Amino acid sequence: MTTLSRRDFLKMGGAAAAALAVGQFVPPSVAQAALATGQVNAQGDGEIATMCEMCVWRCGVLAKVRGGKVVKLDGNPDHPHSNGKLCPRGQAGLATTYDPDRVLSPLVRVGKRGEGKFREASWEEALDIVAWNMLEIKKKYGPEAMVFSSTHNLSQVQFENLLQAYGSPNYGTQRSLCFNAMIVANLMTYGMEEPGRSYEGVKYIILTGRNLAEAISNSETGTLIDAIDRGAKLVYIDPRFTKTAGKAAEWLPIRPGTDLALHLAFINVIISEKRYNAEFVAQYTTGFDELAASIGQYTPEWAAEKTGIPAETIRRIAQEFSDAAPNALAHNGWRTSNFVNSFQTERAITILNALVGNWGVTHLPAGGEESGALGKPPQPGYPRISALRLDGVPWKYPFVPLKLGVFQELRDNILKDDPYQAHGWFISRQNPAQSIPDRRKTLQAFAKMDFIATVDVIMNDTSWFSDVVLPEASYLERYDPLMPMGAKAFIRQPVIEPQGQAKSALWIFKQLGERLGLGDYFQYADEEDYLNQQLAPTGVSLEEVRAKGYAELPEGEAEVYKWNTPSGKIEIKSSTLEKAGFAAIPTWEEPPAPKSGEFYLLTGKDARQTQFATHNNLLLKKYDDEPRIWMNAKTASENGLVDDDLVEVTSEVGKIKVHLEVTQAIRPDCVYMTPGFGHLSMGLTTAYGLGASDSDLHISYTDPISGGQALSQTFVTVRKA
Ligand code: SF4
Repeated sequence: MTTLSRRDFLKMGGAAAAALAVGQFVPPSVAQAALATGQVNAQGDGEIATMCEMCVWRCGVLAKVRGGKVVKLDGNPDHPHSNGKLCPRGQAGLATTYDPDRVLSPLVRVGKRGEGKFREASWEEALDIVAWNMLEIKKKYGPEAMVFSSTHNLSQVQFENLLQAYGSPNYGTQRSLCFNAMIVANLMTYGMEEPGRSYEGVKYIILTGRNLAEAISNSETGTLIDAIDRGAKLVYIDPRFTKTAGKAAEWLPIRPGTDLALHLAFINVIISEKRYNAEFVAQYTTGFDELAASIGQYTPEWAAEKTGIPAETIRRIAQEFSDAAPNALAHNGWRTSNFVNSFQTERAITILNALVGNWGVTHLPAGGEESGALGKPPQPGYPRISALRLDGVPWKYPFVPLKLGVFQELRDNILKDDPYQAHGWFISRQNPAQSIPDRRKTLQAFAKMDFIATVDVIMNDTSWFSDVVLPEASYLERYDPLMPMGAKAFIRQPVIEPQGQAKSALWIFKQLGERLGLGDYFQYADEEDYLNQQLAPTGVSLEEVRAKGYAELPEGEAEVYKWNTPSGKIEIKSSTLEKAGFAAIPTWEEPPAPKSGEFYLLTGKDARQTQFATHNNLLLKKYDDEPRIWMNAKTASENGLVDDDLVEVTSEVGKIKVHLEVTQAIRPDCVYMTPGFGHLSMGLTTAYGLGASDSDLHISYTDPISGGQALSQTFVTVRKA
């Protein structure tokens, strides 16, 4: 890393616009703004409406403030997205904002990378260092030598603006580790990324591995439970007995990797017994005849062998599902990064829904965030990018949307310099040191970088390996861009002033853009100006949105919906896949299986944590169990293991030690661990030393169609440590 003073930087002619003085961009005066909307009294006490960010669901929050401090978070009962509900993580958000480990000043590394030695720096110096290094890398190696990566969040739009204005094609998101298979399958079948779901009137739900009672998506989890209370039947498919299984009428403990076989057999029953909606299929789909011709081999008896679920159960569920149609829903799932056949599983689920004609009843046209009603600041066009992307999109993965990418491949190709060498990495609120499979390789990729900068609220594991850390204000201290959803705009607004020197991402990206000579791409004076420019075409005032946490937008023209596939219909047979030489109709692909003495390594969600981001939260830790690896009681006994034994878990790429939880709630051929533990950063004083990380064990396998990672294809041995 090169360090230099701002004076040096300016002398070197970095970016004339960088002369902008830090501090011109005044932080919002929270109390004043809230007083104007009547949310606080003259003493600054009251309740301010904002939006949760303890996960990506964005529920409405009422933050109780007293004397300039936030003292309690409640659900906002008027909020139409979450109707007053906050999950445990949402209620614990205070402890993230007041985390004693918050990074509250820009930091510059002084020790070896990964040693955790930093010095405090002013914003001017820290931003100058980041900008100078980014400009040097661009000058010497081209903009493609700089990798950008970020989580999914509301300020991501300006992160992407920075990336595109800088001119790098290299964009890493977490999505290939999560839901690429689902999104690409929806695109191939429906021509849309994600159809909506409705539980209103639903009578039958097949839920494949979507543990909604623990992977809490507040409003959806609530409506699912309401539907069960109203009498809807839930069939839940998972090798583990999760809390969602506890709510289901039936739990099918399926063999991992065989969800595709099960859904092919459901389709077989529905077609062979003529239980499909012939009118809907004829009018709105293509490729039914080819599917009917190929599905005969996938009988319930065939699937029973693969899945371990009795043929009569498979047949009965298919019959019950079609009897309930159109008030039946085969849920697409969410984290569908399980096996390389997960893409075909997702295709089979979309087709199952199409066959019973539940479109417009339980399965809805996409809506939401893409709403065009809001405006945005003006900006010039982006420079043309000719360099290939390191993650192989689209030259190796033609169907993967650019904004999804293939993160594990990006990391692997950084190591291989394929097709060229990367030199810098700019990371915003993301923790690849924890999230990408085979952590050893991620640390090697960090070591290859000339320069790494991160933007984060706390010293996460990736910040720990960075050269500069830029402290972002927490979600209770800042504005983010407004979120459009349907005909409403939702706001995240500060309820307290930012602590220390923390700043909003909108501020940070603008400041950096100015220093990179890209000021024209950031034409907003401050955060409020940004939001006002968003609202300009709507006639809605910022005060209106602030007052309730959301505002109705003027009604636009009703969208005429059409399936955006080449045929304009639901493609049971995908012409796009056929042209590229892939199976155009879902066909069985045998997944790899563990050898004798090995187990499938499963990972999933715990209701008290969000991915890799919340483990340092003192309130959540207080109520979280020590993370242990689950093993079936019979298997444990056969292996001479007992509850709480310290065990060594070994995969092809790594080894961890962790305590054992002996349980009946998992198949005998699987073990399970909750991800997000095993932090490397000693700057996380609560989370450091707690549990182990699945990323030390996971091997990277990529599905060639969707680019999705196959997390459950890692097999492990377990022995007493
Ligand atoms: Fe916050 Fe929970 Fe809602 Fe996520 S589901 S936004 S953590 S309250």
